[in-house]
This record gives sequence, C-alpha cells and structure tokens, in this order.
Amino acid sequence: MAETEKGEAKETEQRMVLKITDVDPRFKYEISKIPGAEKVMLCFQCGTCTADCPIARFSDFYRPRKLIRMTQLGLKDRLLSSDVIWLCSTCFTCIDHCPQDVGIADIIRALRNLSVRERDMPVVFKELASNILKTGYAYMIPELRLKKRAEEGLPLLPKANLENVAKLFDITGLSKILEKVGT
Ligand code: SF4
Ligand code: SF4
Repeated sequence: MAETEKGEAKETEQRMVLKITDVDPRFKYEISKIPGAEKVMLCFQCGTCTADCPIARFSDFYRPRKLIRMTQLGLKDRLLSSDVIWLCSTCFTCIDHCPQDVGIADIIRALRNLSVRERDMPVVFKELASNILKTGYAYMIPELRLKKRAEEGLPLLPKANLENVAKLFDITGLSKILEKVGT
C-alpha cells in the first residue's frame, strides 16, 4: 500500500474510534426539546428511512437512520461538523414511512440549525440565502434567460418585495447569521 493510502486508512480508522469524550449524553435531550424533533428517542433503527430515502439511494455515506442513531448516542461534535447533515433534500419520504413517527427531516433541520449557530454553514447555502436577500429568488436568473422568456412570449417573472424579504431575514435572525458567516 502506498504511504498516502496508508495515511488515509489510518486517519479513517482513527476517525471511527469512539472515545467516551466524544459522547454528550445530554444531546438527545437538547434535540428532543426542539419542535418536530421530540420523538428522536423512539427510533428503533428499523432502517425504513434509509431504504426509502432518495438521497441515500445515490450516496454511499448518507444514511438518515445513522444520523438518528448518532443523535441518540450523543455524537454532537461529529454530527455538527459533518457535511452529511446538509445532504437531506427535505422531501419528507422518511417521515411518511417511519413506523415510529419519528420526525427525521425535522431532526436533521434541528442539527443544521445547531451547526449554523455553533459553527458555520456550507458556502452553497450562504449563497442561496444571499441571493434571496438580493433578488427574492434562490438562484440569480441570468439576463439572457429573462430575454429568452420575453422572446417566447412568457410573462415577466414577479418582482419580490425586497423590503419585506429583508424584514423577514431580520426577524428570523438570518441577517445576523449571514453577517457572522461573512457572505
Ligand atoms: S424509519 Fe423511523 S424507526 Fe426506522 S430507523 Fe428510520 S427513524 Fe428509526
Ligand atoms: S427528508 Fe431527507 S432524510 Fe428523509 S427521505 Fe427525504 S432526503 Fe432522505
């Protein structure tokens, strides 16, 4: 095995080792106080959510069942520092199919909110939020596309009330978060 591969294998092995100091036994209680996440402890690890999740189908490492288990075990730092929690598309298939009525997508939302509060947010989400603040749309629509719409006789896209958007950002605290993460 090449040195680099050996190093990577060792690093992966170290990451997998679970130390008692990695566990925060209060974390499950902290999460279960968040609206929508109250039933986190009811998960009995049947795996239905992972089996039916459209993201898990195309990913080797995104497993909602595992995220719920890590939450129950109190692996707070690993969860909040992981990019994996940002992969959920919030389609709610898992919630519809869970035999225990666990709000999986809501728990993942709670993990994301905690991650933003205590750490950071992925660049792509910062950009989406910043686009909404500037234009009212999550994606910047290129002039060329707007011109094409007009040529095809399609109606103009509605203009967002940016004053109200800014107010919403302030009321929800998103403006402060964006300032903190430096968009
Ligand atoms: S479907 Fe529900 S009970 Fe089954 S593993 Fe997922 S969250 Fe847990
Ligand atoms: S809400 Fe998220 S975790 Fe649940 S099925 Fe959809 S993508 Fe998967």
